[in-house]
Amino acid sequence: MKRKKSGCLVVISGPSGAGKDTICSELLKRYKDMYLSISMTTRDKRGKEVDGKDYYFVSEKEFIDNINEGKFLEYAKVYDKYYGTLKSEVFDKIECGIDVLLVIDIQGALNIKELYKDAIFIFIMPPNLKTLIERLVKRNTDSKEKIISRFKSDYKMLNEYNKYNYVVVNDNIKDATDKVESIIVASKCSVERIEDLDLDNQEELIHELLTM
Ligand code: 5GP
Repeated sequence: MKRKKSGCLVVISGPSGAGKDTICSELLKRYKDMYLSISMTTRDKRGKEVDGKDYYFVSEKEFIDNINEGKFLEYAKVYDKYYGTLKSEVFDKIECGIDVLLVIDIQGALNIKELYKDAIFIFIMPPNLKTLIERLVKRNTDSKEKIISRFKSDYKMLNEYNKYNYVVVNDNIKDATDKVESIIVASKCSVERIEDLDLDNQEELIHELLTM
């Protein structure tokens, strides 16, 4: 029985304090064959972030040039900065059978949904709002004004979970990562991903059995 040779596209979204980045890095430790797409952004580098590893950090002009050259699979303005998924980060990998993980905002996820109906869409939820704001403050990388503005957009985003295929509540990183992993494993076994039913020949097997 053959399965689709192309890799899966896994799209993960959730508010910034929901812990999706931690879940994704745990997932990548378990899944050696999964590629985390590196997005392009116009936002400033934070803390120990590295260009070409965390993001491709570019100027607004460079970003717009890339839009005009058709290099994005999707892009969106999030918190007043551009973020986009480059086609080159996704297509080559998927065609080679490598699963690709996108950690993007809801606008980007919905754009991908239009293009790839069989992508796996997972929404990561914080266990409650208090935890969400505590996590935002604990990161300590943004000013209070920025944290409040992120909290407001995150709050709005929480009501959009029903546009995804799965919701995982992150009250514990290990359990949440287990759930995300199970979703991916199950989706990869779905009937839609079977390319053809190349079953062994029944007559030959019976003949073999009779001549044993
Ligand atoms: P941050 O600035 O905290 O790294 O990311 C801010 C938001 O932008 C997060 O929700 C993140 O998932 C989203 N984001 C990161 N890369 C992309 C992308 O390529 N496209 C879209 N649409 N959103 C992205």
